[in-house]
Amino acid sequence: MAFDLEMIQAVYAGMGERIEAARTAVGRPLTLTEKILYSHLYGGNVQQAYERGVSYVDFAPDRVAMQDATAQMALLQFMQAGKDKTAVPSTVHCDHLIQARVGADSDLAQANEENREVYDFLASVSNRYGIGFWKPGAGIIHQVVLENYAFPGGMMIGTDSHTPNAGGLGMIAIGVGGADAVDVMAGMAWELKFPKVIGVKLTGKLSGWTSAKDVILRVAGILTVKGGTGAIVEYFGEGANNLSATGKGTICNMGAEIGATTSVFSYDEKMADYLRGTSRAEIADLANDVAAHLRADDEVYANPQDYYDQLIEIDLNTLEPYVNGPFTPDAAWPISQFAAAVRENGWPAKLEVGLIGSCTNSSYEDITRAASIAGQAVQKGLTVNAEFTVTPGSELVRYTVERDGLLDTFAQMGGVVLANACGPCIGQWARHSDDPKRKNSIITSFNRNFAKRNDGNPNTHAFVASPEIVTAFAIAGDLTFNPLTDTLATKDGRQVKLDEPTGVEMPPQGYDVEDAGYQAPAENGLGVQVLVDPESERLELLEPFKPWEGTDLKGLRLLIKAQGKCTTDHISMAGPWLKYRGHLDNISNNMLIGAMNAFNGEANAVKDQVTQGNPYNTVPQVARTYKSMGIGTVVVGDENYGEGSSREHAAMEPRHLGVRAVIVKSFARIHETNLKKQGMLALTFVNKADYDLIEENDTIDIIGLTSFAPGSQIQARLHHDDGDTDLINLNHTYNQGQIEWFKAGSALNLIRLKESGAA
Ligand code: SF4
Repeated sequence: MAFDLEMIQAVYAGMGERIEAARTAVGRPLTLTEKILYSHLYGGNVQQAYERGVSYVDFAPDRVAMQDATAQMALLQFMQAGKDKTAVPSTVHCDHLIQARVGADSDLAQANEENREVYDFLASVSNRYGIGFWKPGAGIIHQVVLENYAFPGGMMIGTDSHTPNAGGLGMIAIGVGGADAVDVMAGMAWELKFPKVIGVKLTGKLSGWTSAKDVILRVAGILTVKGGTGAIVEYFGEGANNLSATGKGTICNMGAEIGATTSVFSYDEKMADYLRGTSRAEIADLANDVAAHLRADDEVYANPQDYYDQLIEIDLNTLEPYVNGPFTPDAAWPISQFAAAVRENGWPAKLEVGLIGSCTNSSYEDITRAASIAGQAVQKGLTVNAEFTVTPGSELVRYTVERDGLLDTFAQMGGVVLANACGPCIGQWARHSDDPKRKNSIITSFNRNFAKRNDGNPNTHAFVASPEIVTAFAIAGDLTFNPLTDTLATKDGRQVKLDEPTGVEMPPQGYDVEDAGYQAPAENGLGVQVLVDPESERLELLEPFKPWEGTDLKGLRLLIKAQGKCTTDHISMAGPWLKYRGHLDNISNNMLIGAMNAFNGEANAVKDQVTQGNPYNTVPQVARTYKSMGIGTVVVGDENYGEGSSREHAAMEPRHLGVRAVIVKSFARIHETNLKKQGMLALTFVNKADYDLIEENDTIDIIGLTSFAPGSQIQARLHHDDGDTDLINLNHTYNQGQIEWFKAGSALNLIRLKESGAA
């Protein structure tokens, strides 16, 4: 059994009391979102009401899931905590590093060869620390989580944006950075701004060509790519109860495309069916006992406008199939208007490839509906006019649909089955093209369609739709075709229409699999050796950062005074650097290379104050020079320093290369916290104009550390080239616990000291 029944029992056992306490504290009926969040407060008890969109709150998620790209640094860091096991059940999923080239078997063999050192590390570190390991080919993280781990009323985090997929089974599931996963696995609190709640009321029932995917494509059109920011989207209504659990998963998955924190459905019969169908009848029974806690209070559903921050209503009876794109998932076109949009905008009407599957849309229901269209290509004697690929979301689904003859149906249409992995969804697609400069169109049943996402080609116009619509377009090979109204020519010249898709939610003979690809961890992992090749360029074991020396920091050199926008991408660039994400020293060669030097207006050219005849060099090289001489450095920045994705490398790299303090006009909050966790000083100018006092050749002392306390004053003495000095005041936001992180050298150092009884 992969899931943890005792943990789920414990969550349900405490829910009633906590929800009651929350209802009293808040003083009104609760949404489902609030019930789940208040049941997962770090420390347990509900002491107060939190303000949506305002309060920062510490939570205790039930689970962690990590995909193989982001898991590498997260687990290297976790090893620093000195724990024998993760504090909550956790899993690793090998899905992102498999490139789609020709087909499942050979692509998987090649990935195993190319990524052997990463897979060996992830398998061994999982085995050592009690983490479930899903091998390459086992499936895509979110589909595997839905099939095995998601449960109604639970809360999890995952190191991937589409973690919200688990909302299809009534779980609050949030995509995070690796640093957050480390916190939760190490038993620390996980902080989130208490979200706003957007209600989406679904009425009616889907029919014909319309599917669950069209609900979220429509919602994306209404809310746009930013409309869900800072909010959880809660779906309810009789229309919601009519959707399969996997259909709900599709909707929640793509909530990431509107920037939502996550999306969630309340517990219903469809979820119970899916739990039973995927060998988790015990969870359905437990959930039935607490069903009232797994939905909003009745008053909320009766008067939703009074309880949700925003309310949207969608009638499934009249909802049309949608096609969204190109280049953005919120450009939503009802199928009846799509052909005209293609013509008016001059998008290439010829469709080159249709791709179905991925974590978003590869349920049994999706595959049967798409296969019912694919089968018609053969039965009706149609030519298939575009390439067609199928990416199953998991081995469980793949094995079952193969057993039931559905993969054969796709093969007869000319489809190629790819590995159970991300592949073309994340640019891991060796697409063959006669001319990459030619504007071209593809359509997928995936979730994202930003430029270059699928094949790295900016000329590719990617559209997103349901698997059945994608399949119909692949047969037509023409984006101006409307499968609901138009006919297609058969090989012998007749005109025929495609019949509406038909599907079944779950396999009538049940799911089956020979080898799901799961490797359970050792009962006692103490003797397990974690495999890291010392010669590896991609992986390197971490050394603990040094603790604070107990004095003020004197004689630091200015490394860079960054001007203007400095996001985590400027601090730690992605792209080609991502292959080094498990090797801190190698990836540190991208440190701050995107930041603009305020003194010369250039990126990646800063003054080396100590090497004769070599005044300017790259930021990483200058940092390494100072580090080799035992000289600490300071980074100075502008407003909202460190905004963007919460990647932990942006805090770890400066720490690794000897930066002791980052002094800015203002911080993006998550990055500020990440710096604190790595044992660095994150400080802000009391007087923002003092930014202008920093000169290129400054030596800087940080003063006030021996009396460092919450709210205490820190100062910096700037020693300028001409012998003058300036003394400036700096603010900090460290609480006592965070000051202990600084003193120990990092948050993980402190945990390790506590584990060993030394702190
Ligand atoms: Fe992310 Fe695509 Fe993989 Fe899903 S299939 S986890 S969206 S890369």
